[in-house]
Amino acid sequence: SDLSRLILDRIRDVPDYPKPGVLFKDITPLLADPAAFSAVTDELAGLHEVDKIVGIEARGFILAAPAAYKAGAGFVPMRKKGKLPSETLDESYDLEYGSATIEVHRDAFAPGDRVLIVDDVLATGGTACAAVELVRRAGAEVVAVAVLMELAFLKGRDRLAGVELHPLVIV
Ligand code: IMP
Repeated sequence: SDLSRLILDRIRDVPDYPKPGVLFKDITPLLADPAAFSAVTDELAGLHEVDKIVGIEARGFILAAPAAYKAGAGFVPMRKKGKLPSETLDESYDLEYGSATIEVHRDAFAPGDRVLIVDDVLATGGTACAAVELVRRAGAEVVAVAVLMELAFLKGRDRLAGVELHPLVIV
């Protein structure tokens, strides 16, 4: 589609970042292009009627915040451990080496809030899976997970069984 072309043409592959052997998908050219950034924002905002849109630190913030504004939804940050000031819920997940923890404010949602979770890239799915758990533990309903780009070969989708996944492009 036109939207996938717009996105794919503006994602830069950076070899060996952040470490040797990784081909990093850099979305900064897309963000710098007003037509592409607004098309992505409109697409994310129009996916579902939701009360809140969650952005996952840090690139998820950049996509989720304008989408929330456009959709008339609230924005909720999901952050790396230790960054949120008030009482939090946390969820840890395994990385290739070690583990990571993300947090959300305990009172970020009203009971039963309908929530869309947004991030830039779905890789192994560990982050998205933890985000889904956190929203549910905080008493809200996950309507869908949306990502700019799904890296299909990493099979992150398999970790989101039963959750609606909306990749704007799949590579
Ligand atoms: P996962 O937990 O393995 O699915 O990794 C997804 C998380 O890592 C997301 O928060 C992404 O922002 C980040 N990530 C993984 N690979 C890339 C990439 O190639 N480009 C940008 N972000 C990435």
